[in-house]
Amino acid sequence: MIIAEQILNGMTAEDLGMPIYEWESRKNLLDKFLLSWDGEEFETSYLAWIAKQEDTTLPRKESVPPSISKQVKTVSAAAIQFARSGFKRVTQEEHDARLEQCAGCTEFKKGRCMRCGCYMTLKAWLPQQHCLLGKW
Ligand code: SF4
Repeated sequence: MIIAEQILNGMTAEDLGMPIYEWESRKNLLDKFLLSWDGEEFETSYLAWIAKQEDTTLPRKESVPPSISKQVKTVSAAAIQFARSGFKRVTQEEHDARLEQCAGCTEFKKGRCMRCGCYMTLKAWLPQQHCLLGKW
């Protein structure tokens, strides 16, 4: 089940082990999606909707990473979560599947995600981390 569906089912930032700002960003996207959702299978509909939003409701003149302070905040939160998890990593298969999603994403530039500013070969190993657009 993708994260957006878990939020739809009432899971909180704490339940999902993610920073509140990330949860709020996902919840805002989910709320926008729900306005036009026709009730078809959630995951397929949501991912198709997200793919369209990259060109429409989430306009960006050009893909640039977030500010340095936001990146520091994101990396710090990820490092804390990683340590709290006992330094657990996802499987090689999960890591590769995540990178495959990134490879086909318009926000992916030179190994980095322009949404979160993270280097994806590293972030994709962390079980508590997720795509801000809900792709993984
Ligand atoms: S994490 Fe999500 S938004 Fe960022 S590059 Fe990967 S698929 Fe795209």
